[in-house]
Amino acid sequence: MSYLNEDFIYREIIMDHVKNPRNIKKPTSKYKKIYLKNPACGDELTLYALFELDVLKDLTYEVSGCSICSSSVSMMSDLVKGKTKTEIIEIINNFNNMVTNKNYKEEILKDAISLKGVAKLLPRIKCATLSYEALSKIMGEK
Ligand code: ZN
Repeated sequence: MSYLNEDFIYREIIMDHVKNPRNIKKPTSKYKKIYLKNPACGDELTLYALFELDVLKDLTYEVSGCSICSSSVSMMSDLVKGKTKTEIIEIINNFNNMVTNKNYKEEILKDAISLKGVAKLLPRIKCATLSYEALSKIMGEK
């Protein structure tokens, strides 16, 4: 967890999402559901998404895992709600680029840039990307 010491502000953002996870609610049966696990760390995530045509109207989740995984899904939920599939794919691509040291647009990732330190922690990248992978799968991408 050494990267957490690198930048106090980023750490504060991460811990805020861990303590006050965004967009938690009880999903109805209309939500599409996906369950993903990251065996390396033990993170478990169930993502629930409500699409109306091409727009993600709502998103919620149940997460049990480390602070990287649980903060990441909370940040993502804020980023993608109300967006079209095309916009969401751009967000996912930018996030994946950020954590693999490629070029990305900070402005579209907002709070999620606080997780850029995981790029230096190879075993933890999956903790950060699990929620984006789940969203990608639930949309029927890859
Ligand atoms: Zn983890």
